Amino acid sequence: MSKFLSRQYRKLIPYTPGEQPKDQRLIKLNTNESPYPPGPETLKALKGREPEQLRLYQDPDSVRLKEAIAGLYRVQKENIFVGNGSDEILNFAFMIFAGEGGKIYFPEISYGFYRVFAELYQTDYCMIPLTEDFSVDPQDYVCRDGMIVIANPNAPTGKALPLYRIEDIVRTNPEHVVVIDEAYVDFGAESAMSLIHKYENLLVVQTFSKSRSMAGARLGFAAASPALIADLERIKFSTNPYNVNRLTAALGIAAVRENSYYMENCRRIMRTREYTAEKLAQMNFSVLPSAANFLFAKSDRIGGRELYQKLRDRGILVRHFDKARITEYNRITVGTEEEMEEFLTAVKEILEERDGETI
Ligand SMILES: *Cc1c(COP(=O)(O)O)cnc(C)c1O
Repeated sequence: MSKFLSRQYRKLIPYTPGEQPKDQRLIKLNTNESPYPPGPETLKALKGREPEQLRLYQDPDSVRLKEAIAGLYRVQKENIFVGNGSDEILNFAFMIFAGEGGKIYFPEISYGFYRVFAELYQTDYCMIPLTEDFSVDPQDYVCRDGMIVIANPNAPTGKALPLYRIEDIVRTNPEHVVVIDEAYVDFGAESAMSLIHKYENLLVVQTFSKSRSMAGARLGFAAASPALIADLERIKFSTNPYNVNRLTAALGIAAVRENSYYMENCRRIMRTREYTAEKLAQMNFSVLPSAANFLFAKSDRIGGRELYQKLRDRGILVRHFDKARITEYNRITVGTEEEMEEFLTAVKEILEERDGETI
């Protein structure tokens, strides 16, 4: 830390992204990326005229990209904001919607970035504990006195709330923005997108990173009332008007065109998820019911940290969080069928080895 850093940022603890290993041989089940490549249309977009045009700034209003996304969800382009990953959109939302002296509510166990953003903007925040079974209790969020942020499905638990519960939260907080972070919605949860015409305080945030195989392209979008979208645009034009680069915009438009390719991948991942969950349960793991592209599981035969380490020794990377209430768990991204077979075999061997040791 230099002596120049403003005092207000000196205690800020940044978000810790999951490891991106240099070793390509590792089976990577730690950051919820898609195991499948972008579709053929998407890849073709990289070979078209777009790369040649890189010398030019792109359309700062991202009109074509917005129209494509709006078309997919049957809303107007005025309902859509696009960002450099959904993290950027969440960042903006925390920056501008909490209100002066306002407060932000989010679940205690959820996406780690929420807390970082709240700290960054020095906004008062309240982390609401999950219930005994790791659910978000919607009752905890009705009629609150501040902005609300909920990941649905939640991470790292994978549990989802039904749409009518989300609507209760949005309806009973008309004076505050309710952000529904739907990074994993395409893996089996109900989207709140259909409510944006009904509630001016609802901001639905999605991403191309997980269900559309584009984590490295950085593309997120939000759907909301035109007034909320205009607020986000105001901040975008006050920080980085070209937030979604030319190539990423072209990729996004192509990805929307071949949406069915990505949705088929999601269904395949969901099948692999259910298969893997069943196999883990047969090995006596407790596995939370997941509506996402990952599983959150613990064994009573081996500690969470130890399992993480032993998998790593065998070249399989999962995500472990050093947080008291979830330290026995690991979050396992659902990979290809083959990757999950290798994962399951490794788990079985680790457990057998361990039983051998203790006998
Ligand atoms: C991955 C993730 C994001 C961020 O996605 P990007 O679009 O890649 O920035 C946001 N929210 C949750 C809950 C996530 O898991």
